[in-house]
Amino acid sequence: MIQDELLKALANVKTLNEIEQIRIQYLGRKGIITNLAKETDFSKLSPEEKKNFGQKLNQLKNFATDQIQETLNRLTAQNTATPQVHRLIDLTVSGSACSLGALHPISMVQMELEEIFEGMGFTVLDSPEAETEFNNFESINIPSDHPARDMQDTFWLKNDMVLRTHTSSNQVRALKRFGAPFRGIFPGRCFRYESIDPSHENTFYQCEGLMVDRDISVANLIGVMKTLLSEVFKRDVKVRLRPGFFPFVEPGFELDLNCLFCGGSGCPTCGDGWIELIPCGLTHPKVLEFGGINPNEFSGFAFGLGLTRLAMMKYGIRDIRYFNSGDVRFYEQFAPII
Ligand SMILES: [Zn+2]
Repeated sequence: MIQDELLKALANVKTLNEIEQIRIQYLGRKGIITNLAKETDFSKLSPEEKKNFGQKLNQLKNFATDQIQETLNRLTAQNTATPQVHRLIDLTVSGSACSLGALHPISMVQMELEEIFEGMGFTVLDSPEAETEFNNFESINIPSDHPARDMQDTFWLKNDMVLRTHTSSNQVRALKRFGAPFRGIFPGRCFRYESIDPSHENTFYQCEGLMVDRDISVANLIGVMKTLLSEVFKRDVKVRLRPGFFPFVEPGFELDLNCLFCGGSGCPTCGDGWIELIPCGLTHPKVLEFGGINPNEFSGFAFGLGLTRLAMMKYGIRDIRYFNSGDVRFYEQFAPII
C-alpha cells in the first residue's frame, strides 16, 4: 500500500525539489515510514513479531530509499542532457579565420592614384554626378551644336541636368573656385548611354586632371603622365603620343601605353601592341577664359584617366562587365591577404 503510493508519487515528479519533498514525506523524522515504528506499541508484540516487524520496516525503508534514488538519478540525467552538448566543444581546436571584406579594384586604383597625385602637389576634388549642361558641355568648349556631343550618348535628367559623361565637367568649376596656378584631379563615376560589351559599360570611372600655371608645355604633360604610370604599374612604361581631338584641349593627344599583356608584340586586348589610355592635351584658351583665367598669362594641360581601364590593365581583368557585376567572388580576389 505504502509502496504503491510512493511509486505513484515518484512517477509524477519533475523537479529535484519535488523528490526531496517526497523523501521528507516518507523517510523524514516525521515521515510516513518513520512514524510506522513510532506508532507501534512494541510491548504488545512477541519477540518473534518484533523481529518480523523490524525486518519488514527495513525492507520498506530500503525500498523507499532505492526508489527515491532511482528517480533522482533519472531526473538528473534528463536535466543534464542539454548541457552535455557543451561537452562536445573542443577548446583546443584552432579557430577559423573571419572573412574580411575586400576593396573594389577601382577603389584601390583610385586610392593609389590619389596618393601619387597628392605627392605631386595635386588637390583631390570630389564632385556631383548630376551636372548642369553648362559644366558638362559648354564650359569645356562643347557648344550645343558641336559635333563632339554626338560622341557621347548622354543620360538626360528631367530637370535638364545630365549624368556627367566625364569628370572634365569639373575643370571650370575648379578654376572658378581656386584660380591659377592650380593642379588638381577629379576622380569619380561617369555615365554614358552605351550598349554593354566586354570593353564598354554605361557606368564607369574616370579621373580627370588639370594643371594650370605659367609656361606649361607638352613636356610637363608627358613628364607627369610617365611618372604616374610608372608608379601605378611599378615599372618603367613606354608611352607614345598621337594627335587626338578633344574640344577642351589644343593641341590634343591620345597617350598610348605599350601593352603590358604582350609587351608590345600585339595581342587580342591591344591589337597592335599599344593601348589607348589617356586622352590629354594643352588646355584650350576658351576653357581658361570660362574659368576666369587669362590665357595669355597662364597655360595648362588636362588629361582624362580611365580608372576602369587602368584597373583592367593593372589587375589583368579582360572583361569590363565584372566591375559592376556585384559578384562577390570577383571582389573577394582583391581581399587583403593576412
Ligand atoms: Zn597586347
